Amino acid sequence: MDKWKIMVVEDDAPVRHLITVSLSAEDYTVIASGTAAEAVQLAATQNPDMILLDLGLPDGDGDEVIEKIRLWTETPIIVISARDEDTDKIEALDAGADDYLTKPFSVAELLARLRSTQRRLTHIAAGNTEAVFKNGDLVIDYAAGCAYLAEQPLKLTPIEYRLLCLLAQNVGKVLTHKFITQKVWGVGWENNIASLRVFMATLRKKLETYPGSPTYIQTHIGVGYRMLKID
Ligand code: CA
Repeated sequence: MDKWKIMVVEDDAPVRHLITVSLSAEDYTVIASGTAAEAVQLAATQNPDMILLDLGLPDGDGDEVIEKIRLWTETPIIVISARDEDTDKIEALDAGADDYLTKPFSVAELLARLRSTQRRLTHIAAGNTEAVFKNGDLVIDYAAGCAYLAEQPLKLTPIEYRLLCLLAQNVGKVLTHKFITQKVWGVGWENNIASLRVFMATLRKKLETYPGSPTYIQTHIGVGYRMLKID
């Protein structure tokens, strides 16, 4: 199999160097850039398999880079944010990023995030987005409109079922509160986060053995939720 080509966009030279060296040691091909303009150009000409993007760049905002790249490709983008504010990550996710890392992060954390994105891509490439979704003990039969856990039917309300399907269709990806509420309740209801929390809690009670330490649906405090891809 060909090596995965990762594009690293980071203006902080020592951090860029550390990431480049760490990824090269793990047998990834790395292309690196320090500016927003060059990042867009390299994404178009080098066709990377994945993009690691620092949000604070000297010549532009990371969100603008995501919007430009998303005009022609769905290549996964993991944003790197040095800032504490969740709003940067949320805007990046809403602009089309797939995941995020907050500085400072360890190399192990970075590699884990890349591998989980790779798994998700492999899952999509394998055509596993068909009529029946399987993840661990969870099965969703889209055609029948039913979900099962360890072969037992889950008794879900229509909203819980829609939530579950939305998370499943984006397995491995962090979905923001805004994205989820728009998809489940429609435009104009994107601030319906209190309702989302209520329905998420009832869904988890039915889905998770230990709702306090969930296996399937991960909470990203202040950001949103992700369904984990279970091996
Ligand atoms: Ca920066």
